[in-house]
Amino acid sequence: MPLKIARTVAELRQMVQSAKSRGNRVGLVPTMGALHHGHLSLVEHISTQAETIVVSIFVNPSQFGEGEDFNAYPRNESDDLQKLENTKATIAFLPTVEEMYPDGDSTIVQVAGLTTLFEGEARPGHFAGVATVVSKLLLQCLPDVAIFGEKDYQQLAVIRRFVRDLSMPVEILGAPIIREQDGLAASSRNVYLSADDRTVAGKLNVVLRNLVQRVEAKNPITDEEESAKAALLEAGFTAVDYVAVVCAATMEPMETLNREARVIAVARIGKVRLLDNMAISPSI
Ligand code: AMP
Repeated sequence: MPLKIARTVAELRQMVQSAKSRGNRVGLVPTMGALHHGHLSLVEHISTQAETIVVSIFVNPSQFGEGEDFNAYPRNESDDLQKLENTKATIAFLPTVEEMYPDGDSTIVQVAGLTTLFEGEARPGHFAGVATVVSKLLLQCLPDVAIFGEKDYQQLAVIRRFVRDLSMPVEILGAPIIREQDGLAASSRNVYLSADDRTVAGKLNVVLRNLVQRVEAKNPITDEEESAKAALLEAGFTAVDYVAVVCAATMEPMETLNREARVIAVARIGKVRLLDNMAISPSI
């Protein structure tokens, strides 16, 4: 089936309504475009749960802070649409900023607690922007199911929280991180990396994998976090925002491995912030 394009909420609603009236389940894949195989894997995953798949492409201004890369963020609508043509996506939703934030828009979705740590601390206001735009997309589309990558692990936790708190009638799925050959997590921002930076970037997952093995082997968590930070600086990263072992469910920092955990990390090369995370299992 050819990909349909909706640019307004009214067009999207009409298409979704007609799919539902045919008995289709509807899945939503929110993205900011510059699509790569990580995004496309979300479409593939959700296709087991929904026949009508909406991929939204919207670079959301409210989740970028001052001095961040909103203007420079890679945008290429025709490439993105071409990529989606070869997937199971059925609708591309491409709203304008005015469509998403109509004149006089003054409502913000703010999740407390969870959003003050890690990415929330490094990027004040970021999660309010994410929670607001994802709430809008969910209410505009009213899908049965929506999918988000574990690549943005804290974001997934924030989305699960407000969907639960606000009783939004949608199932939220998480999908595993898709990586390049050297293990670097695929990201639209990887295009900012020079060839030399790209080599350094490939070390982040190696350092984290090493930490996972050592923490699972019962080495002290704080020591391993410190060693990983030192190893990243040694590998050529210019700064490390955080390397932290947290509870996989609540994102609270952990000192003992007594439940499912996650190591989450952000390291910088110049202005580029690279995010990664991995599961840590207490049973080994
Ligand atoms: P973005 O366009 O960066 O906002 O990402 C849109 C969605 O794709 C989010 O749910 C991300 O977590 C997910 N995503 C981005 N990169 C990856 C990846 N490498 N593997 C899996 N999901 C990803």
